[in-house]
Amino acid sequence: CGIVGILGKSSVAPQLVDALKRLEYRGYDSAGVATIHQGHLGRRRAAGKLRNLETLLGENPLSGNIGIGHTRWATHGVPNETNAHPHQAGNVAAVHNGIIENFRELRDELTAKGHTFESETDTETVVHLIQSELNNGNTPIDAVSAILGRLEGAFSLAIIFGGEEDLMIGARRGSPLAIGHGEGEMFLGSDAFALAPFTDEITYLEEGDWVVLSRSSITIFNENNEQVDRSSTMAQASA
Ligand code: GLU
Repeated sequence: CGIVGILGKSSVAPQLVDALKRLEYRGYDSAGVATIHQGHLGRRRAAGKLRNLETLLGENPLSGNIGIGHTRWATHGVPNETNAHPHQAGNVAAVHNGIIENFRELRDELTAKGHTFESETDTETVVHLIQSELNNGNTPIDAVSAILGRLEGAFSLAIIFGGEEDLMIGARRGSPLAIGHGEGEMFLGSDAFALAPFTDEITYLEEGDWVVLSRSSITIFNENNEQVDRSSTMAQASA
């Protein structure tokens, strides 16, 4: 239901939770964060209120200067820890708003290829699809560009990759996603309000767009994988 992503300068888990609190107004049933530290993906997820996730992070902190966070409103799979986002397959972790309508076909195809699913969600098919492209030798960017056209339904996504601490990919179809411009930092969020503590300079992805972010660059593609320019605006702090 709510998405945030941070390519930061210091440990991002506390910032991710702060941004998720600003998305609480949308409603949610569970929450989670994933970061990359020393090359490795780590996740913490909890059913229920953000306080439960904070307690978990207090007991078992997550280091790392890049990360993604999510508040979930379940559409496929009960609200529990296993179904909470971020979802992970190998070196790929993602958070998702919306519904992947053709997830059953995709899941059957991937299961036949040897992928093992741990959750009941539609979302988990996305990380396995990307991991399957990485297994074929594709780069993370090529892997995402190859699979977006296979997804049916509405989604916004934020994706990170183990071993890649200066790369985050976002995508938008039928569900909004905003890029926040920082100084040596970059942000993704479901809305500008979530990103207001970090930056006022916002670029909204247009329908079908996807974006490759590093701490110093924003590269946006349209649904035909052509590079495009999208202007930025100064958000109202009180949006
Ligand atoms: N369809 C996904 C799920 O049920 C995402 C729901 C959401 O937008 O929070 O996990």
